[in-house]
Amino acid sequence: MKKSLLVCLILVSSVARAQVPLLSLKINPQRIQTRLLELSKIGELPNGGVGRVAYSKADLEGRAYFIALMKKAGLDVTIDYAGNIIGRRKGKNSALKPIAFGSHIDSVPNGGNYDGPVGSISGLELIETLNENKVVTEHPLELIIFANEEGGTVGSGAMIGKITPTALKSISQSGLTIADGIRTIGGNPDSLSKVVRKKGDLTAFIELHIEQGGILMTENQQIGVVEGIVGIEHWDATIEGTPNHAGTTPMNIRRDALLAASKLVIALNEVVTSHEGRQVGTVGKMAVEPGAYNVIPGKVVLGVEIRDLSYDKIWSLFREFESRASQIAKASETTITFTQSGVPVIPALTAKTIQDKIIVAAKSLGLSYRYMQSGAGHDSQEIAQIAPVGMVFIPSVGGISHSPKEFSKGVDIGNGATVLLQTLLAIDREK
Ligand SMILES: [Zn+2]
Repeated sequence: MKKSLLVCLILVSSVARAQVPLLSLKINPQRIQTRLLELSKIGELPNGGVGRVAYSKADLEGRAYFIALMKKAGLDVTIDYAGNIIGRRKGKNSALKPIAFGSHIDSVPNGGNYDGPVGSISGLELIETLNENKVVTEHPLELIIFANEEGGTVGSGAMIGKITPTALKSISQSGLTIADGIRTIGGNPDSLSKVVRKKGDLTAFIELHIEQGGILMTENQQIGVVEGIVGIEHWDATIEGTPNHAGTTPMNIRRDALLAASKLVIALNEVVTSHEGRQVGTVGKMAVEPGAYNVIPGKVVLGVEIRDLSYDKIWSLFREFESRASQIAKASETTITFTQSGVPVIPALTAKTIQDKIIVAAKSLGLSYRYMQSGAGHDSQEIAQIAPVGMVFIPSVGGISHSPKEFSKGVDIGNGATVLLQTLLAIDREK
């Protein structure tokens, strides 16, 4: 009799707790801060930054630290063949496809402590908040910590089947090939086809990340609703003139490749800024030959980059730039040729339905927000190929990132984590 009364009481109390209004769920910002600090000690550099490049000893330690926390939070943790850490939590309806969220904990060399860890640790915080409030979602959940994001979104790329045998042979920042690196963290590069997810395998993927730029801070906005991650195209522009004696060749008969290249640098800037929109164009590399004080440059190779959310726009800007180049070539009696370089990054748009949920969450919490695009690459852009994706940005102080000076305020991180939680719950409620 006593025993059944006890069971009855337990049932009543769990039902009562299950009725905690989901909108009032609160994450614990202090716990996020504690963990950011703990993780920052792994691979800590004397300048206050962090060196936790993928597949390094520090990366392994960071992963072990994180896996232990995930297990402690009751997640069923596995490492997939690409080395991604996946923590699963059951939902009420196992027939539904999981809602996934997460980020990465590897860093660039001499990096900061917020790019990646903010989204990863906040993802874990969501799980713990749900645990503490005895909330079981309808959908199964997956917290994913992607392997080697900074080395070219390797873990998330593997999930969409885009890591080629050539890519596996390339050398990562750790000094190991990508293939050996994947082995080091418990994956198997020979079985990457088994980690590929197809369209429909995930209900959604959401990622919280620092902005890595200064727009939110400058405009005093708290939440960035990411519309998409920009596409990137690279070209090498080769300008050829005539190398000649810098002392004896009169100015009016020179074919100076660097002078023409300089006009080309300005032309790119003019083309990109003469159109409405948020496109960016950069000449970030210049190789001058022969490269001497006393020789008129005969050849210059420029590294040209254009980024935008629209692939068509990238190419229409490039066509305009090309026609300016032919004018410059004609006027300077040089030749200018372009070749595409590297692998293009296809723009990835986030799902409008998830953007809307992020906005509802921000509004309900009284947070200011703005739409924005991401100029930096993220795991979300890969997962966008197979699932509806949402991204939440929080301000980066001074717009600084990939630097020991990278910093985001605790209050902003807490806001971002709460928005992430409410967005997750809104996706979960949707039938
Ligand atoms: Zn990142």
